[in-house]
Amino acid sequence: MQSPLEKLNKFLELEREQNYENRAVVGGLDKAVPYWEREARAYQLPEELISFIVEKLQEYPRLQPEQRKEIIQQIFAQIETCGASNKAPAQLVEHPSRHSSKGSQQPSVKKETREEDNTQISKILQTPLERVSGVGKKTADALEKFGVRTLQDLLYFFPRRYDDYSRLKPINKLKYGDEVTVLGVIQAIASRPVRDGKMQLIEAIITDGTGTLRLSWFNKLWYVNRFPKGTQVAVSGKLDMYLGKLVMKDPEIEEIDREQLHTSRIVPVYPLTSELNQKTLRRLMYKTIMQWAPKVQDFLPTSVRTSLKLLELGIAISQTHFPDSQDSLDQARWRLAFDEIFLLQLGVLRQKLSWKSLPARVFEVPDSWIEQRLALLPYELTNAQKRAIQEIRIDLASGKPMDRLLQGDVGSGKTIVAAMAIGMVTYHGAQAAVMAPTSILAEQHYRNLSRVLTQSGDDLPAILQPEQIRLLTSDVRGAEREDILNGLQNGSVKLLIGTHALIEDPVQFQDLQLVVIDEQHRFGVSQRAALRKKGNNPHLLVMTATPIPRSLALTIYGDLDLTVMDEMPPGRQPVETHVLHPLERERAYQLIRHEISNGHQAYIIYPMVEQNENGDGLSVVQEFSRLQKEVFPDLNIGMMHGRLKPEEKDEVMARFRDGQYHILVSTSVIEVGVDVPNATVMVIEGANRFGLAQLHQFRGRVGRGAAKSYCLLIPESDDALENERLSVMVETNDGFVLAERDLQQRGPGEFLGTRQAGFTELKMANLTDVHII
Ligand code: ADP
Ligand code: MG
Repeated sequence: MQSPLEKLNKFLELEREQNYENRAVVGGLDKAVPYWEREARAYQLPEELISFIVEKLQEYPRLQPEQRKEIIQQIFAQIETCGASNKAPAQLVEHPSRHSSKGSQQPSVKKETREEDNTQISKILQTPLERVSGVGKKTADALEKFGVRTLQDLLYFFPRRYDDYSRLKPINKLKYGDEVTVLGVIQAIASRPVRDGKMQLIEAIITDGTGTLRLSWFNKLWYVNRFPKGTQVAVSGKLDMYLGKLVMKDPEIEEIDREQLHTSRIVPVYPLTSELNQKTLRRLMYKTIMQWAPKVQDFLPTSVRTSLKLLELGIAISQTHFPDSQDSLDQARWRLAFDEIFLLQLGVLRQKLSWKSLPARVFEVPDSWIEQRLALLPYELTNAQKRAIQEIRIDLASGKPMDRLLQGDVGSGKTIVAAMAIGMVTYHGAQAAVMAPTSILAEQHYRNLSRVLTQSGDDLPAILQPEQIRLLTSDVRGAEREDILNGLQNGSVKLLIGTHALIEDPVQFQDLQLVVIDEQHRFGVSQRAALRKKGNNPHLLVMTATPIPRSLALTIYGDLDLTVMDEMPPGRQPVETHVLHPLERERAYQLIRHEISNGHQAYIIYPMVEQNENGDGLSVVQEFSRLQKEVFPDLNIGMMHGRLKPEEKDEVMARFRDGQYHILVSTSVIEVGVDVPNATVMVIEGANRFGLAQLHQFRGRVGRGAAKSYCLLIPESDDALENERLSVMVETNDGFVLAERDLQQRGPGEFLGTRQAGFTELKMANLTDVHII
């Protein structure tokens, strides 16, 4: 007996041959529907498939031939995707429950049909891979390792690179030393034992019509069977000379499809696992792309696409896999990169909108309050600081949650701005929290903020009492911790300062209205959200010294309003920076000595805590004892690194701050925020291992007082390229310039220090693509 699908197949084929005149069935295709439907049910075809086909066929007579053609293609496609054509009751693609299109005889029929088709297509694209025809279980499992689970994922599983066979060199043009890919046919291949039979030498000769080239490998015995005479191959490697003849030793070799080369001279190379080979995968991709890419619905309206000169989505996908030329590949990648950034941006803006749609408590303070508070400070605020305080004041009074990023280079004086914000909120009896990335920094904030907020003037009471301000880090335990937690709940503690211990569960506030996060780049978006959840739509102030390139400010930080403090407190001199040759280290030590004899202090930074097993690179622990014994036996040196307990770190920091240590050797833990104005020398060993933005942070640890300060960068080697990168540090003290460079050179992952949500999703775009952004 013929299956209902086979029968259907026949009708539809016939219809196609007869140019869609609806004559394949007497009286029209729709007349056959009730009968076919019954049979299909009896045959236990999946319900979704049945209703899909039935609806399509019922529409059929009303449509124009062009539309009929499309419908028939869709039915074929649906059957194919379901893999139902050869197997009877199979598990099937989910079919969306469709709102009735019947009864709507309006002129918009055509459009409506198209929209439904689009929903249909996007449903089909969600088909799990193992149900896509041509994909076996084994292939599906192998692809799953790359996160490819659906038909759609497969369309977006992009080549790792391309072999551009359109720019090949013919064999007769090859020269000694060339590194090339050559295309040819295996003319001979054989193996023979060498070195007393300890090894097998495999030799092959390929030809491309212009000449022959000899290839050789050791011990790859299976090549003899894998690439027999007549196989078309691509080989890549470096050309060597042996007995006066060119030879390629141990080249990479790959069989290529003739078919493939006919369709495209630029051939995709996909990421592979041991279970997947390039040829199989390419074939699968080719089939999938040809069938499905043209059906992909473009979510960008044509008008937008035209004005931005973007390729259509389906074309972009297929050209990314199988480009016709380098130019169309570039255009295709551009389009896909555009989509990534565009969608990222939409997400960020949606986030901002939803946050801004919530009401927040209004906090207002009189002008006189601000003037009086500022008059208590030992210095005059910079204009940038004043502006920042004004912006925050407006936010806090707006009735909407503040969501502000305060960006100011190291030393620009962000802490006092935060203190004023805290003052405005706690002045009204509400609570505030400050989260810092390290306990050193939290402790420093605790001291500074306490000083500012508990200060009183002649007629001016203090904003807070000392006991209303508490410090919470992971090493605060027992009774003290209990006391803090209680105080937060009953509202007697008004300001809590700490590390990420703040976002732990037991920490509950009575009335948290302001959240301040320092050095934002050390925290992820999720930590920001977690702290915010501790209150009821609290206001948020995020601070960072990492200058944010424009592209980043618009994308990842796009949900925040931005305040830039582009002015330094007066009297700051730029830090004099030099890159030293590794052998000039002694000069750095001389400078340290000189500065210390003038009453100053110095930092020396190392990239590692302890030496790794390879013994390469300088480390804090080894260098600490060497410096103490051999270089500065008469000076006090402190040692700081991440493996110390928090209380030990605080102890070391306190001693350095109080001048008990002349020199502090440290890893990057002191990178952020630490403020010891008496330190005037910053020596960075292994400078090549750090990003520019990070080096700039280190450098910001000095030059914080009135005295002239120095930063010496010592790379591990003389590598010219590295030193050129470092020389940018000499040229500029401008954090923005450095951040842009860093972003270009090292990418956003490095730049941000943490992997933040969203960026890892970017496959085509780059957060440095300012132009797209
Ligand atoms: P950062 O922006 O790096 O967090 P801080 O807030 O730690 O900077 O400030 C750096 C130093 O500058 C501190 O010692 C602070 O007291 C001081 N400072 C802040 N603002 C001014 C100002 N307007 N004039 C002079 N010194 C200031
Ligand atoms: Mg700071």
